[in-house]
Amino acid sequence: MTDRQTALAGNIDKLEKHLARFRSHGIANLIDGQSVQAHAGMSFETHSPVDETLICRVAKSDAADIDAAAQAAKKAFPAWRDMKATERKAILHRIADGITARAEEIALCECWDTGQALRFMSKAALRGAENFRFFADKATSARDGQTLPSPTLMNITTRVPIGPVGIITPWNTPFMLSTWKIAPALAAGCTIVHKPAEFSPLTARILAEIAHEAGLPDGVWNLVNGYGEDAGKALTEHPAIKAIAFVGESRTGSMIMKQGADTLKRVHFELGGKNPVVVFDDADLNRALDAAIFMIYSLNGERCTSSSRLLIQRSIADEFLTKLKQRVDNIRVGHPLDPATEMGPLIHSIHHEKVTSYFDIAREEGATIAAGGTVPEGPGHYVRPTLFTNARPNMRIAQEEIFGPVLTAIAFDSEEEALTIANGIEYGLTGYIWTNDLSRSLRFANQLEAGMIWVNSENVRHLPTPFGGVKASGIGRDGGDWSFDFYMEQKHIGLALGQHAIPQLGA
Ligand code: NAD
Repeated sequence: MTDRQTALAGNIDKLEKHLARFRSHGIANLIDGQSVQAHAGMSFETHSPVDETLICRVAKSDAADIDAAAQAAKKAFPAWRDMKATERKAILHRIADGITARAEEIALCECWDTGQALRFMSKAALRGAENFRFFADKATSARDGQTLPSPTLMNITTRVPIGPVGIITPWNTPFMLSTWKIAPALAAGCTIVHKPAEFSPLTARILAEIAHEAGLPDGVWNLVNGYGEDAGKALTEHPAIKAIAFVGESRTGSMIMKQGADTLKRVHFELGGKNPVVVFDDADLNRALDAAIFMIYSLNGERCTSSSRLLIQRSIADEFLTKLKQRVDNIRVGHPLDPATEMGPLIHSIHHEKVTSYFDIAREEGATIAAGGTVPEGPGHYVRPTLFTNARPNMRIAQEEIFGPVLTAIAFDSEEEALTIANGIEYGLTGYIWTNDLSRSLRFANQLEAGMIWVNSENVRHLPTPFGGVKASGIGRDGGDWSFDFYMEQKHIGLALGQHAIPQLGA
């Protein structure tokens, strides 16, 4: 056996040990500190995208399970809210320690559950721990406010946690994204009900267990599995839940907004994207090539911030696209636990069908499939990394979120044209600009309709910065203090400095 085969066999062996408990007991909910099956006794199967085999059965919850979880979160809220921030901080750090200790288990299970390559998932597990550490350290300043004196009053502000919140997460990098939403909610003093995606339930269960082992009081973190249309919907409609933090598709966000209207839910939405990477002829083209490839073909292209539209200046397009095609053809597609694999299978047969349907759409629209556009033989939801060229901005392949390893390249002549193409879309999550002209980069960034923009860089997340999108890509921001703006209410208190005149009606 080669070193690579030995490593793969070793990883599969370790994975099987971690999966044994799921295989024998399935995945139950975790409500008020107790492992419980769905109230109605229903469950659904979850399969691995790698070979389509059954992993285990998962609790299929409905409104009754959501109610039990929401009531538990409501009951636990006052004590968690009033716990000393230093104690909350210590618990959150212990959760981070627990994640680090089980990082390998988390990474292996996540790969098997989602099809993501181990090279990315090991880092994602550790980023989950970092998310907890970052917000643990912010817990002690979460209530900080301002002093805004007027002539007659000393006005002060403080923040208080909004109450029990619902957190609904998608199947792409589900572990990291769950920590990203849950850590600030807990640091703020909120209790939570988490509804993970039905396609990827494994690591959400491990994470909730770690939290309880770290000493999190019962009821503070409740995990309810199930489908979006029943468990998810019930969560967004529950009167005890004060806000919904949601990551997923734009059209689901729109449904959640309607579902939450009767109970006046506060919402935070991180939604879809069709992000442009704009490469000008004066850029460092080797670095731009590396970044463009990384931002669409890493994580199987199942990434909201992926650069799925390449806008390339016509004067350099031929040369750039030739090199791009060679690199795309070379991307190693394979078993996610093989250390050499760069791309694994897509999450699910439904998603595979959606992504591959764009191959025909591209042909029908008159674009060229310069690389990929094929499905490898054998089991699993695999697809070859794909590059569409000769595309026009109004084509479906240039407008719709495919959410797979599929890049649409469009040539432009001028900066003005590039901006029109970049903004001519319903989404506005991220944008990537490659140029060595400083003024142009600032001018372009100023006018680009996106929540996050990187110049001469791929997406590099820095936790104190705001994360979120504009247009159909989202509402609200995460990161730094912005997360607390969502999970907390501002409170103003005015104290009279003396005996100012009070209007004397009826005197
Ligand atoms: P999805 O919208 O289908 O599902 C997301 C979650 O919502 C799942 O847990 C699902 O069960 C639940 N859900 C579905 N219908 C619901 C309803 N009516 N009420 C309540 N909950 C419901 O999204 P997905 O396919 O799992 O994830 C991929 C999408 O997520 C892509 O569009 C991607 O761009 C987006 N995403 C965005 C960000 C970001 O930060 N902007 C990050 C990651 C993923």
